[in-house]
Formats: sequence, C-alpha cells, structure tokens
Amino acid sequence: MTTRAYIGVGSNLSDPIAKAKNGIEAIAALPEVVTIASSSLYSSRPMGPQSQPDYVNAVVMIETTFSCPELLKALQTIELNYGRVRKEERWGARTLDLDILLFGDDEINEPDLIVPHYGMKQREFVLLPLFELSPSLVFPDGSELSRLASDIDRNGLEVIENPPQNLN
Ligand code: ATP
Ligand code: MG
Ligand code: MG
Repeated sequence: MTTRAYIGVGSNLSDPIAKAKNGIEAIAALPEVVTIASSSLYSSRPMGPQSQPDYVNAVVMIETTFSCPELLKALQTIELNYGRVRKEERWGARTLDLDILLFGDDEINEPDLIVPHYGMKQREFVLLPLFELSPSLVFPDGSELSRLASDIDRNGLEVIENPPQNLN
C-alpha cells in the first residue's frame, strides 16, 4: 500500500539552498519513497527568534510505502546526517528541518507525532509552496488549501529558485 504525503523542508544555516536541496534529494533517494514533485525553493523570514538568517523552504510531494512513524524516523536520520544539532531553543537556527505535513488523510495525535502538522495552517512558508504543488488540496478536516493560501500574509516569502527536477 502506498500513501501520498507532503514533507516541509527548511534550512537557515551553512548554505541553506544547498542544504534544502540535499534534503530533497535524500528524501527521493529513500527506496520506500517515490518523489512526485518538489515545489520551488522559497526564501522566508524566521519564526521566533529574529536574530537568525532567513530560511529557505520547500514542500515535497511523495508516495511512500512507509507508515507515518517509519517516515518520521527516516526523516530524522536525514536531518542528523546533515548535521542538525538539537538545541534547547525552539525554532532556533538549524541546518535542516524535515516535517511531515500530511500523510494521506491520517489524523495522528501522539506525543512525538502530530499529523497534519500542528502549525502548518498558520505558516505562509508551508501553505504557499504546498499550494504551488496541489492547488485543489483539501485537508482531512475539510478545510480548503486555496482559501488558507489566499488569506495568509506572505510575510516577505519569495521564490528564489525553480523546483529541483529529475529526483528519482
Ligand atoms: P515545529 O514542529 O514547530 O515546526 P521544529 O520543526 O523546529 O518545530 P523539531 O525540533 O524539528 O521542531 O521537532 C520537535 C519534535 O516534533 C520532534 O522530536 C518530533 O517527534 C515532533 N513532531 C511531531 N509531529 C511531527 C511532524 N508532523 N513532523 C515532524 N516532527 C514532528
Ligand atoms: Mg518545523
Ligand atoms: Mg521539525
């Protein structure tokens, strides 16, 4: 059985464009994953502490044979391979952040796994790349991405590079 899922990619340290691309390529290289498409790369303003560089963000659409917890584990391994160091400060600077945004229509509420991602409806750097990939997407709770994407403040979000191609 395969599930369509969406992964949010973010980086703001040590060559974030390259780090985001590395993350996108590492996801595509997982044998249990077929990447359907990546969004453009976007530049966005940081959430939380403002004394950190801007972020590079993208969203990747995949089909996977993983369960959702298995996908989380694989993404955390990729984060660690790219040198992410977990710090006390929430939303602080990091080399690579890979979040599961949606996993089919699953709704999961475990201590270490909340899907759909709890913050995605309030984040322009998630909604707008997701809209680029799947404009007619409807969330498991019935809310429409097109409405959320048109209502949100862009907060300086800009496309900086076209989508990475030939990922499989
Ligand atoms: P935010 O979750 O607000 O985007 P963050 O991505 O910086 O912040 P992390 O440090 O990457 O937070 O992750 C903190 C914990 O979030 C992880 O240990 C993981 O278990 C948990 N988590 C819960 N739901 C998810 C999800 N949908 N995708 C990824 N991690 C999740
Ligand atoms: Mg995150
Ligand atoms: Mg995260």
